[in-house]
Amino acid sequence: MYNPGASKLSKIPKIIVGDPIDEEFFKIVEGRAEVIRAYDVDDEDFASLLKGADIVIVRSRRRITRALIDCADCLKVIARAGIGLDNIDVDYARSKGIIVVPVAEASIEAVAELTIGFMIALSRKIPQLDSKVKKGLWCKSEGVGLELKGKTLGIIGLGRIGSRVAELAKAFGMRVIAYDPYVDRMAASKIGVELIDKLSDLLKISDYVSIHTPLTEETYHMIGERELKLMKPTAFLINTARGSIVDEKALIKALKEGWIAGAALDVFEDEPLEDSDLVKFDNVILTPHIGGSTIEAQKSIARILAEKIMEYIESICKDNGNLK
Ligand code: NAD
Repeated sequence: MYNPGASKLSKIPKIIVGDPIDEEFFKIVEGRAEVIRAYDVDDEDFASLLKGADIVIVRSRRRITRALIDCADCLKVIARAGIGLDNIDVDYARSKGIIVVPVAEASIEAVAELTIGFMIALSRKIPQLDSKVKKGLWCKSEGVGLELKGKTLGIIGLGRIGSRVAELAKAFGMRVIAYDPYVDRMAASKIGVELIDKLSDLLKISDYVSIHTPLTEETYHMIGERELKLMKPTAFLINTARGSIVDEKALIKALKEGWIAGAALDVFEDEPLEDSDLVKFDNVILTPHIGGSTIEAQKSIARILAEKIMEYIESICKDNGNLK
């Protein structure tokens, strides 16, 4: 049982790392905490490791459920090495007095660059042509593509990543529009983005639609049959945010029936992706949730995470005066 009164550290802090993170983290915390790497353990073993743990660190793979939280007896911090807290029962953790710390700032560039990469790969049919050339087929006439310059990019969610994608797209000479009911029109226009009031209008006029919202009750299946039918048949859909923002069944129907020209997806309703018809389409690019997986982003996440955790531990130690 969690004991809220036990919020003091009376021993060297115990940190459980539930998903692989960069070595940079371990270098910084070495000697200042007991750190256990629990990458390949099942939930049952993970639950027993949580006993006596002060801090748990996860990426997007390991789920920190209510049941797991109940197994912890003195957990104070759940740190998420990245953005998106949908694998953590945040409300329950907070109700138990556990702090949930994301590291949001480190993967902006990585995801934004992947998004632009997807746009170019879709437009120039890079994966299709690559696989044909490797099979000995020199199909130059099939290789006629499209340029980004002059096209309209519709961004759904003009936050950290959406704004960076907008900046990069502007450099390619694109017109950038965005739908985000929580963003100020002035703030959008400062980065050269035209805010659109209705999602349906953005879908109708965009050549590329790129999703950058969090997964919430409001954004779950935000892109379904109705929305896909509004898109131009020449338009591409890109999702590097969270799988369940797109209704995958509806997307498969849209691709089969040619409602849109193609899609690039880094995230899926169920990960890892298994037995999905999405793999059958030539005009669909699929990557295994690697948006934030660059050497630079992973090092940066690990460093920021270690600094935040050390800051937290030191502040508690100062308050308690009991850990040096
Ligand atoms: P952010 O919080 O900075 O921005 C999200 C934006 O979405 C905000 O501006 C918010 O106002 C807007 N928004 C919220 N609800 C909306 C709605 N109903 N309609 C339109 N806009 C809405 O988030 P971020 O850091 O830019 O991250 C964006 C997404 O990218 C998240 O889903 C995150 O999980 C995902 N992500 C994926 C990877 C990856 O590996 N593929 C890595 C990092 C982040």
